[in-house]
Amino acid sequence: MNILIFGPNGSGKGTQGSLVKKKYNLAHIESGAIFREHIGGGTELGKKAKSFIDKGELVPDEITIPMILETLKAKGAGGWLLDGFPRNMVQAEKLWDALQKEGMGLDYVIEILLPREVAKNRIMGRRLCVNDNNHPNNIFIDAIKPNGDKCRVCGGDLKTRADDQDEGAIGKRHDIYYDTKTGTLAAAYFYKDLAAKGKTKYIELNGEGTIDSIKETLLAQLA
Ligand code: AMP
Repeated sequence: MNILIFGPNGSGKGTQGSLVKKKYNLAHIESGAIFREHIGGGTELGKKAKSFIDKGELVPDEITIPMILETLKAKGAGGWLLDGFPRNMVQAEKLWDALQKEGMGLDYVIEILLPREVAKNRIMGRRLCVNDNNHPNNIFIDAIKPNGDKCRVCGGDLKTRADDQDEGAIGKRHDIYYDTKTGTLAAAYFYKDLAAKGKTKYIELNGEGTIDSIKETLLAQLA
């Protein structure tokens, strides 16, 4: 099964994504996490990407698109969940072209809807577990509140991402996400149009529900 997931930063996209990934045993291909691995490993790609990421801007398409398409080919044979890509119209079209060329299907496209102001507050409360990026912790969401100042899943230390605490950078990221002309919502609607033509299935979820209620609605709609 191959799935794309869209949602603004702060919508719980990562949390829902990791639940779906586990249920269907998919490769979780997360563009932001791949960039962070490169930055952590001090690679050339990481060095180039860092300045854009720190400013809340998109890493240029000529770096991002090949990186994702190569990862899909390398890790995606058994099914994938792609998260954080595509982020704009160019990426959306290039991905669709590549899928056609590789003969890969796209079973579902998931969009988590969340008002911009709600998304911003959630980002500022997000905490990352040093042991596992997929351990959800957020000081503003009761269901995933950390245990004191430790990870609620494993008790590990928690840290914040620098770009999560910078309102200017959050604003820029949301400008890109909520842009329905060329930005991420434009990319999502590109796939919504394809779904209307029967080429994929499009699932819309209200991101203001609890993690469990969103999960149930989502799993009920996936085959
Ligand atoms: P995320 O973890 O998804 O919030 O991504 C963190 C940062 O990585 C973003 O703010 C961008 O700077 C960069 N990034 C992630 N995915 C993409 C993408 N598809 N295209 C360009 N830049 C990206």
